[in-house]
Amino acid sequence: MQLLRSLAISTRLAIQSPWRKKQIQRMSERGEAPMSVLFYHRVADAPVNPWTISNREFQRHVDYCRDNFELISLEEVQRRLESGHSPRPSVTFTFDDGYSENCELALPLLIRHRIPCTYFVTTENVRHGHPFEHDLRLKHPLPINTVEQLKAAADSGIEIGLHTANHVDFNRVHTVEELNKEIVEAKSNLEEMIERPVRYLAVPFGLPEQMRPAVIETARKCGLIGICSAYGAYNLIGDDSFHIRRFHGDPEFNRFRNWLTYDNRKNLRRPTLPTEDVLNITPEVATKNRQPQLAFS
Ligand SMILES: [Zn+2]
Repeated sequence: MQLLRSLAISTRLAIQSPWRKKQIQRMSERGEAPMSVLFYHRVADAPVNPWTISNREFQRHVDYCRDNFELISLEEVQRRLESGHSPRPSVTFTFDDGYSENCELALPLLIRHRIPCTYFVTTENVRHGHPFEHDLRLKHPLPINTVEQLKAAADSGIEIGLHTANHVDFNRVHTVEELNKEIVEAKSNLEEMIERPVRYLAVPFGLPEQMRPAVIETARKCGLIGICSAYGAYNLIGDDSFHIRRFHGDPEFNRFRNWLTYDNRKNLRRPTLPTEDVLNITPEVATKNRQPQLAFS
């Protein structure tokens, strides 16, 4: 089944390739080239799970992106969105969670080629070295990054970002205290750990239901400069620059190529985000919030 799907995508890519090239060229000429932000979790050879990509495949992704795109930072994505000018199709690398094995090939590779990357970690897992719940459920507890690894990566130019304190599902958060613990306190804890400012948050799961107004507002008010989703979308001129849209660095190479060569059908399926906080969080004063007047709708 997967083989058939892959074959179908590669046939479509072959047929559409000249048309897609022209489409991207026209968008670039208008200064509206798409900005693709990729997220990965774990680059390693074993054990394989849905959030792992092999070292070889990751190398292939990096080579393909270096050959075909401008590789830019999250900050540059935001700058282009704000200026309303994106002259070339670009790719940005990010990682979520904080798996130790990423320090073996993936991060050194990005560092060697000076490819911008933001690396999002879950602070309590780093602090205690506890494996993730989602790995324990698969009976494969996997090693987590240490503070020393994160500091060394930061020294080499990798930006460390926040992926909450406990990999929380914001769709299940019911109090302002928990929201503050997972974002505001976690941000300052991570800053203490790595001895650097933390500027970005990647929302765990990152689906529209987690991208709640209360989450975005809390991130903004505690001094973060951007927040990343993961539901699969391009960043296009006209989009809000605070919310950076990402899609998965899919291990299936044809699906990966399909996204990066700008599949307009993905835009037609772009979900709308909740504009009201359906969980009815009531405004309260947060103890560690720099600006405690949270005005949740
Ligand atoms: Zn995650």
